[in-house]
Amino acid sequence: MQSAFSIRSKLTSGISIYAVIGQLAAEHKAINLWQGAPNFLPDQSLIDSATRAMKEGFNQYAPMAGIPALRQLLAEKIAKLYGARYDPDQEVTVTAGGVEAFYASITALVHPGDEVVFFEPAFECYEPIVRLQGATPVPIKIPLDTLKIDWDEVAAAITPRTRMLIINTPHNPTGAILEKCDIDRLIAVTRNTNIVVLSDEVYEHMVYDGMTHHSMSRYPELAERSVVVHSLGKTYHVTGWRVGYCVAPAGIMEQIRKVHQYLVFSAPAPMQVALAAALENSESYFALAEFYQRKRDILLSGMAESRLDIKPCSSGFFMLARFNDFSNSSDRDFVFDLLRRMRVGTIPLSSFYGDGSDTGMIRISFCKDNDTLREGGRALANWRP
Ligand code: PMP
Repeated sequence: MQSAFSIRSKLTSGISIYAVIGQLAAEHKAINLWQGAPNFLPDQSLIDSATRAMKEGFNQYAPMAGIPALRQLLAEKIAKLYGARYDPDQEVTVTAGGVEAFYASITALVHPGDEVVFFEPAFECYEPIVRLQGATPVPIKIPLDTLKIDWDEVAAAITPRTRMLIINTPHNPTGAILEKCDIDRLIAVTRNTNIVVLSDEVYEHMVYDGMTHHSMSRYPELAERSVVVHSLGKTYHVTGWRVGYCVAPAGIMEQIRKVHQYLVFSAPAPMQVALAAALENSESYFALAEFYQRKRDILLSGMAESRLDIKPCSSGFFMLARFNDFSNSSDRDFVFDLLRRMRVGTIPLSSFYGDGSDTGMIRISFCKDNDTLREGGRALANWRP
């Protein structure tokens, strides 16, 4: 259809790399190590609970902030895990996935002309959401050899216009987590400022090798300036249900809810009922660390003979691999080559940088069933230039 309208683009980014890889992967029937979504079923009891909730009539709008029983359980869970007391009525909001919580929080709190500091490589939605507010994204690159944030660089990037600092721990795509020394520096750089910390903690339970997740909720001085975002989709292997939540002090949450009510109004009702039933059993999330650590290790042992230089990964769903000792390709071409010749899908790391920095690395996902991990590991190990 022809249109007479001239459209001025609000976002300059093109089609997401996930759509490009997804289409090519389907054409080549490639093994899926690119997507951060499980390819296995969630617990049958969760599916039964959701089905029952629909049959019992939970098919209309849920309360705007989320079903009260679910909010109560989420507040209790955070109190138990991190020692913070959030009021379920005023300080916990159930959202349509973690992504909606980012959108509502950034829209509510960031004004045109403000600056938002975040770290690259980065989960892809932060930057465009900041831009859509007429604000300025200020990316800081994480050194890929150490995966340690340079806090002096962060301190230097903060100006009177800095309104928000976005943290992601455990981190997509590097698999790194913040340690206590990072938390101390974060407290120091934000002290005596008006900076809100938006903390993406959707992989809070996927932490391996005895490491500890340091939630912003655990530290009162940070909790009072933080919006902490969680994902029930990630925790219960149901990313398509679109249920997440965020917690924040009442004054901040009041502003977030003003946006949430006009964005989606409420998250899916039957899923909230089912997830509340699942949350009664804390084993459902405590078991995740061991479950995914084993998956990481299955993939790693499959790739033991690989020419790729695999970076250590202690959390999350992803690991990084460097290929440029053996190939001069761009990371996109390398990924396309893996798709065509080895029939395995991965993501070029350049897609996690606003400026498209190509560091000769790819991201590999291990939230897959064990057969897929063995097959995918073998395909990557068999790659030759
Ligand atoms: N944050 C990070 C770091 C992620 O990797 C993802 C999903 N890939 C999300 C947030 C999205 O969470 P949700 O599915 O709950 O919207």
